[in-house]
Amino acid sequence: MSSSMKTPAKPWPLIVLFFIFSTSAIVAGFFYYRSLEKNLMNETMEQLSAIADLKVRQIIQWRRERISDGNYLKGNIPHIRQFSRFLAEEQNRQLKNDLISSLISYTENYDYGSILFIDRYLNVKLFYPDQDTIIGDHIQVLLPDVIKKGDVIVTDLHVSGEVDFYHLDLLIPLKEPEETDTNVFGVVIMRIDPDKLLFPLIESWPVSSKTAETLLFHVEGNEIVYLNRQRHLEGGGIGMRMPVTDNKLPSSMAVQGINKTTNGVDYRGIPVVAAMKKVPGTPWYLITKIDREEIYTSLIDKIGQIAIIIILTILTLGLFLAFLWWNQRVRFYKGKYEAELEQLALVKHFDYILKYANDIILLFDKDYRIVSANDRAIDTYQYNRSEIIGKKVPELRSAETAARIREDLEELERMGYSTFDTIHRKKDGSTFPIEISARKVEIEGVKYYQSISRDISERKKAEETLRESEERFRKIFEESPFSMVMTGKDMGIIKANSSFCKMLGYSEEELLGLTFKYFTHPEHIAPDELSILRLVAQEIPIYHTEKRYLRKDGSVIWGSTTINIIRNTKGEAQLFFAMIEDITARKKAEEDLIAAKEKAEESDRLKTAFLHNVSHEIRTPMNAILGFSSLLNEPGIQENERKQFVEVISQSSTQLLSIINDIVDLASIESGQVRLNIQTINLNDELRKLSEQFSYKQKSQGISLILETSLTEKNADIFTDSTKLIQILSNLINNAYKFTGKGKISFGYNLKDGFLEFFVRDTGVGIPPDHQGRVFDRFYQVDSDISRQYSGTGLGLSICKAYAELLGGRIWLSSVPNEGSIFNFTIPYKKKEG
Ligand code: ADP
Repeated sequence: MSSSMKTPAKPWPLIVLFFIFSTSAIVAGFFYYRSLEKNLMNETMEQLSAIADLKVRQIIQWRRERISDGNYLKGNIPHIRQFSRFLAEEQNRQLKNDLISSLISYTENYDYGSILFIDRYLNVKLFYPDQDTIIGDHIQVLLPDVIKKGDVIVTDLHVSGEVDFYHLDLLIPLKEPEETDTNVFGVVIMRIDPDKLLFPLIESWPVSSKTAETLLFHVEGNEIVYLNRQRHLEGGGIGMRMPVTDNKLPSSMAVQGINKTTNGVDYRGIPVVAAMKKVPGTPWYLITKIDREEIYTSLIDKIGQIAIIIILTILTLGLFLAFLWWNQRVRFYKGKYEAELEQLALVKHFDYILKYANDIILLFDKDYRIVSANDRAIDTYQYNRSEIIGKKVPELRSAETAARIREDLEELERMGYSTFDTIHRKKDGSTFPIEISARKVEIEGVKYYQSISRDISERKKAEETLRESEERFRKIFEESPFSMVMTGKDMGIIKANSSFCKMLGYSEEELLGLTFKYFTHPEHIAPDELSILRLVAQEIPIYHTEKRYLRKDGSVIWGSTTINIIRNTKGEAQLFFAMIEDITARKKAEEDLIAAKEKAEESDRLKTAFLHNVSHEIRTPMNAILGFSSLLNEPGIQENERKQFVEVISQSSTQLLSIINDIVDLASIESGQVRLNIQTINLNDELRKLSEQFSYKQKSQGISLILETSLTEKNADIFTDSTKLIQILSNLINNAYKFTGKGKISFGYNLKDGFLEFFVRDTGVGIPPDHQGRVFDRFYQVDSDISRQYSGTGLGLSICKAYAELLGGRIWLSSVPNEGSIFNFTIPYKKKEG
């Protein structure tokens, strides 16, 4: 059991992990909030700046429109003339009423509250409405300059003694159209009511907001004077003053020339974000601002969401880690339980082993005294437990092995373990062989020895039986007259007996490297391999065959072979065992017998054919002889007819004689009665005579017979049997005539190596190659259309062969079908007897 299993794992790493992850989640949430805040602030600032720009543009536009109102009036010549005339005719009521109604139309259609018309001496000449009849002190200061310059102006927002609310005036100097610039004869003063257009324009805000507002102000001395209403002050606060020196006040910042959007504290002392602008062409400054608090209010929702996400994340993580920890603890206690169970099982297991083991298990101390013995030990040694405990181990040894005990124990001491066989003794004195495996062990620091031993009486007996059986087998194998061989799965020789070695001519050492295939005749290899596969596949129980083997000296023998497969207990092929009997002699006898049988059958067949032929060959001339002989007896037969009949009878008799001669010759040859009649003859003479004998054939068949002699007349005197020689030649020439349709026939001889080599050459049908070897056999005829046309017995060539050999030579032929044949034979060239 590993030490890590003793206590459950501490949760600290998980807690630290939890804190790291939680802190990371909070920090990430915080930074996310900060980025949201920054974005919102930037957006608000941009919005404020854009609104301020818009307002400034609108104010400028509004002022421009007012000045153009003034310029319009200033340029309206008929109208100006009316004003100018009025100065001269103040009593002209009609004129006065016209002018007043035109002034009314200004107040009604534009944002002008009241209108005055004054002369160049600042006397009020006309007014509308009735209550406003006085020039305010603010304008009084400006009027001389206006009269002097003649330009239309819009005044600053102001209050005066006469008008106590903030307003502005449009001053329009009027000139006689014909006069020069300086001649301003009067001024139209239009009081602009800012509440009508200007203030709504400034105070409007494009989106709904609780705190946003626009402030318009100018500077008077060291003070900022607010010119429009402020939404956060009761009563509007127009005209409220603040010191220019208050640096946090956005208005002060604007006055100090700061032209951007920034943080500040407004007139209420509340932090705001404000955009500040100067309104060009006027003494005014404009501020658009919003409370910071309002901006943050919109973030509160987001903060809520972020907080929920962070809390959920931390909770999930916490739950997950808690689950992990719980799981770890469950695994730990489960593992601990299983380990304890294993331990218990192990202890029980060892108890059982000890109690029921088939082996004798002993524990003995350093003095070799037995301290523990199992049931088997008690059974085997026949001592009871109390007797065996305390007994010294050497006391268990038999007398004959007692001497060795010192050595055995020393080896155990030295090596720490030892395995050996010895003989032990039981209580009753009987002994038994035992196999001991002993080991030194240390228990709580004290040295002990443990031995596991086994009574091996049975095994020894079995070994002995096996040894005897092996010896028997070896003897049978070695000394068997049968050839025996054992091969592996690959048919490689493992063991061969001496009969086998002798049969193949190899030594056993030479055979060990070889496979069965090596000395099997190639024709048997494929069938052998197939049968071995079938044997392995258990398709056949045994493989028996008669096959040829190649001996070391190259000779071939026949063996009756039986191959058996030896399998292990699982049925897998392990070895092959082959027994071979040399049956070469039997095979040879069989072959000879078959050859003899075939020959006899052939001979029988040939003889039948011969009898058939002979009877035909004999009957034909005999019929002619008999027929024509009886005709000779017919009365009134003519002389020439008689001659013809006699000629036929004579020819038929000659033919019959030749057949009978052939048969007699053959009978003589076969019975060994042919005798040679050797004498000196002139070969050339003999051949010439022969050639002449065939002159009638030359004429009747139109095929010339050419004789070629190569010896001089003198040298042509030779010593031989001329009858046999001439018979050979005449047989060959007769055949040549029989099988030649056109061309020529030549015959003759040449002297070669002490032999006369005769030849008979024709240009006839020839003999097919597969028949050439057999035409010299008795009764053999080539079975063809042509040979069937001619008579014959198939004996001529065999007689030639027998005679040529009798004369001391040999005969052969060469032939090409449809081109012709050459028959050759030799006889020794002998000049005289001996
Ligand atoms: P046969 O009496 O039938 O002629 P042979 O022994 O003389 O008997 O000849 C055997 C056979 O050999 C013939 O039947 C013939 O078929 C063949 N033979 C012999 N001589 C010739 C030849 N010159 N040309 C072709 N075939 C020949």
